[in-house]
Amino acid sequence: MSAAIFPEKMFNRHTKIIATLGPATDAPGVLDALIAAGMDCARLNCSHGTHEDLRRRAREVRAAAARASRPVGVLFDLQGPKLRLSGEAVPCSVQAGEVVTFTCTADDVGERRVPVDFPEFPRLVTERSEIVVGDGVPRLVVESVGPGEVVARAMSAGELVPRKGINVTYARPELPAITDKDLRDLALAAELDADFVALSFVRSAADIEQLRARLDEYGRRGRTIAKIEKIEAYEHLDEIIAVADGVMVARGDYGVEAGVSRVPLMQKDTIYRATQAGKLVITATQMLESMIQAPEPTRAEATDVANAVIDGTSAVMLSAETSVGQYPVEAVRAMSQLAEAAEEAPVIHGRAQAGIRDTPAGAVMHAAVELAEELGAAALLVPTSGGGSPRACAKYRHRQPIIALPHSEEVANQLALEWGVYPQTMDVSGSVDDLIERALLTAKELAGFASGTRVVITAGQRTGTTGATNLIMVRDIP
Ligand code: PEP
Repeated sequence: MSAAIFPEKMFNRHTKIIATLGPATDAPGVLDALIAAGMDCARLNCSHGTHEDLRRRAREVRAAAARASRPVGVLFDLQGPKLRLSGEAVPCSVQAGEVVTFTCTADDVGERRVPVDFPEFPRLVTERSEIVVGDGVPRLVVESVGPGEVVARAMSAGELVPRKGINVTYARPELPAITDKDLRDLALAAELDADFVALSFVRSAADIEQLRARLDEYGRRGRTIAKIEKIEAYEHLDEIIAVADGVMVARGDYGVEAGVSRVPLMQKDTIYRATQAGKLVITATQMLESMIQAPEPTRAEATDVANAVIDGTSAVMLSAETSVGQYPVEAVRAMSQLAEAAEEAPVIHGRAQAGIRDTPAGAVMHAAVELAEELGAAALLVPTSGGGSPRACAKYRHRQPIIALPHSEEVANQLALEWGVYPQTMDVSGSVDDLIERALLTAKELAGFASGTRVVITAGQRTGTTGATNLIMVRDIP
């Protein structure tokens, strides 16, 4: 048997793992250890660090992935329109019931008269808005909006501190979806061939269409991820899912905006609707929070990860656990073990319905998935040019591993985040026969399959053409 890159055991975890990079992953050898522990995609959070940090970390991930001979995605997470209290704000404590005036000038500043770092703040706020400071407190309800100021009453106690982040619910769309900082970060993402670009504080499908247009201007095919963290985004979820390549259940900011008690059902519903639509869905934030300081997760965290996996999330994400935590490698390893164990559940939800509107190629992929399951095939081999065919298989959440064989590294990296998909690049073939023989040999090498192992393979008579898959074959590994 050959030395497999994906030994068969690795097929036991179909849910993918994203780890956020940061100072804790910078030491030599840590990225290699993260990949060995199961990291499928590295997240670069543009809210932290300099461009030099982002550039260095992106390059080091690519180098570590090449050393491991494993496709690993790189995800740039743009900060989006984040509001903050101004640097001139006077620090003070606010009690429930007290009135605070938010202003847009640095004049006449004092306790409970707090400047905001956005000159149009009163235009942004509506009568039904709430203003939420920091991680959720104080939360204030708007009482009146006047020229140059917003008066609000605190519903909960908390601290007002210069530069603290603020969220405004039901804001008017005065803030640009993509800020000047985002444009600079996007230029870097394009320069570094980011495989995924996530946008924070998305409010509508139009925000993602803008992101797509910007990426297209750079000639990049990076896949777009809409972070669902505003109430408005959740209210427009289906439209956003329709235009984005994927969504992220961004539980941190959604909990700030909507209140923590609203997070669980929003998560379950978002996973359900995204998977029904056959789109990528990432569950994020505080999944193994205690592992920032401890080598083992809590039982509640273990159950949280398992629930997301059983609901059919495509990927689970680690944030501070890996970027600044004391146990980044242990966190990825724990996540991998938890996902693997949870996938033993008798049912994994999130199986998309085969639709009558499927393209002929989509119908072929559905038939291939069914056939692989019926035969108990060891894997489904899917040569692909753009990645559409393996994605069309992944959305059915069948247990047979999908070995995707794209021509380009970019597509392989993007497929690394798809549920149950194991990508490996393979050269373009001149004929269908050549394509099939090469696919069988590549899968044998990749997975360490013994000769005679039964697999199902798809192909297209126009090899190398997107959407041209029209053949299904049952074969034994040579
Ligand atoms: C979140 O808010 O849950 C999230 C993923 O975004 P960030 O980490 O940028 O706050």
